[in-house]
Amino acid sequence: MTKTLIVSNSTTKGPEIFASLQGEGLHIGRPTAFLRLAQCNLNCTWCDTRYTWDWQSFDIHVETKRMTIVEIENAIDDLGMSRLVLTGGEPLIQQTSLIPLMCSLHDKGYSMEVETNGTIFPDSELLPITECWNVSPKISNSLVDSGVRFNEIALRKFVKLPNAYFKFVVQNKDDISEVNGLAEYLQIPMRRIFLMPEGQTTAKTNEISSWLAPVCVNEGYRFTPRLHILLWGDERGR
Ligand code: SF4
Repeated sequence: MTKTLIVSNSTTKGPEIFASLQGEGLHIGRPTAFLRLAQCNLNCTWCDTRYTWDWQSFDIHVETKRMTIVEIENAIDDLGMSRLVLTGGEPLIQQTSLIPLMCSLHDKGYSMEVETNGTIFPDSELLPITECWNVSPKISNSLVDSGVRFNEIALRKFVKLPNAYFKFVVQNKDDISEVNGLAEYLQIPMRRIFLMPEGQTTAKTNEISSWLAPVCVNEGYRFTPRLHILLWGDERGR
């Protein structure tokens, strides 16, 4: 049976397979192809990609497109990049179909990063072919029940992967003690933790960054801006 994936779809630009710069984390600023997959198992209050999963507010038939692995691979190849970021939504919901796509792209020499909320641990076939796991566990500012957003078993397995980096979305100063507690509880090495300001506008991310950057200096966390927001706002396909 032909394997397919449900891809996020923009009414103006088509399926969200596009070239841009990595906007966050370890590989920030690197030219990269992106594949944005639809569906998520969380519903964070400040989510900036609600169109990938919020079918109360968005039309699933408009916002998604089911594509074969071959169609997706061809679209990625057409971008002419050597790197790929798999993002969402939550990409690992569809990991069974991701395996053949990622294996084929790996054989062609692509370096791949997967962005995930840390609630689903990847299939063993994906581990050796993924350069970097960008794990973003959600904290209480997401307003998602902790029993849904916090999968301790999965997160502890991610901590054991030397190529897993953790990004916490910070909204207010109270968030720092929560991150401190999680980092200590899960024993995440500090050099693998990024703090990132929440916000879908330059003004909002700058406001949080103004106090978050000094916090990172004092506490020893890595800081990541949201480069794509600074460059392009919240425009889709960027
Ligand atoms: S996990 Fe990510 S994609 Fe899912 S609701 Fe939260 S912010 Fe949005």
